[in-house]
Amino acid sequence: MSLKISLRKLYEKLLDLYGYQNWWPIDEEYHKNMGTDPRDEVIISAVLTQNTSWKNVERSLERIKREGILSLEFVRSVDEKTLQDLIRPAGFYTLKSKRLKELALFMNPTEKVKYVSRGDLLKIKGIGRETADVILLYAGGRLYFVIDKYTQRFIERFYGLKGSYESLKNFFEENLPKDVKVYKEFHALMDEHAKRFCKSIPLCGGCPLKDMCINASPSS
Ligand code: SF4
Repeated sequence: MSLKISLRKLYEKLLDLYGYQNWWPIDEEYHKNMGTDPRDEVIISAVLTQNTSWKNVERSLERIKREGILSLEFVRSVDEKTLQDLIRPAGFYTLKSKRLKELALFMNPTEKVKYVSRGDLLKIKGIGRETADVILLYAGGRLYFVIDKYTQRFIERFYGLKGSYESLKNFFEENLPKDVKVYKEFHALMDEHAKRFCKSIPLCGGCPLKDMCINASPSS
């Protein structure tokens, strides 16, 4: 497939536009003070963010930090009712508390994130491809590209691609340098662009990528 602009060039262009996003956001200071593992925060928030906004995830994380401990050990040991109450702002709290408990039991010790297989993660109830890849990339520092609804919307329009989660993921993994930092940043940069310009109704008129985009609309 010939691309109007290579993925590598697109990454550099987005980086020029928006700068480093340093995604996934983690409260390093908290973990330093508490002696907890920052990777636990990624794993917990990867579940909390399912079907809700990041703002609601933050509210739940704040509650856990205030009234509990932001760690997988805490998730394993706290009773389910309390956990549900703490994560209530993220919605679907009954479901998510079960998922968190199961995931925390599986991911013990947290170090397992360095070698666990994607297939085994996907066997856990409620852990889909996107959640698994977030955990592997952002907590495990492993080369798994994450696709979410923003990445998908943008890349399908920009390159005129259509595909399943796996085929879009493969497209990135086959065309990018094997660099974890690039994987982490590129995903976050595309989300940023999709939120600013490539919205459900795209704002192509002001889009800084319109000259390179296959589906730029002249009228919007
Ligand atoms: S030109 Fe339009 S469709 Fe293409 S990336 Fe920009 S906003 Fe999205």
